[in-house]
Amino acid sequence: MGTITLLGSAAAEGIPAIFCDCEICRKAWQNKGKDFRMRTAYAFNERIRIDFGPDNLAQEYRFKLHSEKLRHLFVTHAHGDHLAANSLCMRRPGFSRGYANPLNIYGKPAVFERIREDTRGLLNLLNLNLLPVTEFLPIELPEEDMTFYPLPANHCQNPQEAVFYAVRHGNAWILIANDTGYYPEETWRWLAEQPILFDIVISDASFGTRDSREGHLGGRFVLAVKDRLTELKRINRKTRYIVNHFTHNCGALHKDLETCFHPHGIEVGYDGMILEY
Ligand SMILES: [Zn+2]
Ligand SMILES: [Zn+2]
Ligand SMILES: [Zn+2]
Repeated sequence: MGTITLLGSAAAEGIPAIFCDCEICRKAWQNKGKDFRMRTAYAFNERIRIDFGPDNLAQEYRFKLHSEKLRHLFVTHAHGDHLAANSLCMRRPGFSRGYANPLNIYGKPAVFERIREDTRGLLNLLNLNLLPVTEFLPIELPEEDMTFYPLPANHCQNPQEAVFYAVRHGNAWILIANDTGYYPEETWRWLAEQPILFDIVISDASFGTRDSREGHLGGRFVLAVKDRLTELKRINRKTRYIVNHFTHNCGALHKDLETCFHPHGIEVGYDGMILEY
């Protein structure tokens, strides 16, 4: 049916992290490969992406994405590793021909506040449609045969400011869940009520093997989310379950994360991972 590409797999600092020479960053420089991680973002295809962080241009070069074809950008929240709004200024006349192609941006009001601040009065020149999302209300893309459901996350100080997305594409279901913490109960209630069986789940595991529940997931709370999704019958043995969005502060390299998560039927995300469904 389709694919989803992990354009990045790191938290805010990247790995190796900018300005850092900790042991993990030094080892990542040696290992390269899957231990090199740009900031987390996803592409379904050239037209549809989730998040647009500070590595957006490098990701376009690496994965041969033509952003002039981008039509729908879903933003989880306004943190700088997921929204580098100043790049949008390059759409204006005299800088690129981007303004010729309308771009729909979906997010919570805090996302649009950030865009307004970072585009400094240029917004009218950028041909952006800023489309506010409401938790649980579906966003239909009929021409793509896709539906996006924004779900509340346990992430920003104001819990109203962060969402993650359950996505239907044809008959396939994908849950893209970075920067979630342990999901809020209203999200669990919605998941319990929907007769969805996810083909793919991409879960936050920012703190890797170390336990974390609030803001970001790590360790046993990653497993607790997977267990609860299993109990609700939202996933089964056929579901591909991937962890992603890692910080160097988690003290784990790619192989350490695999050692921790593989026994639980969980794959470890990396830049350039392509998931088919
Ligand atoms: Zn993040
Ligand atoms: Zn480091
Ligand atoms: Zn965040």
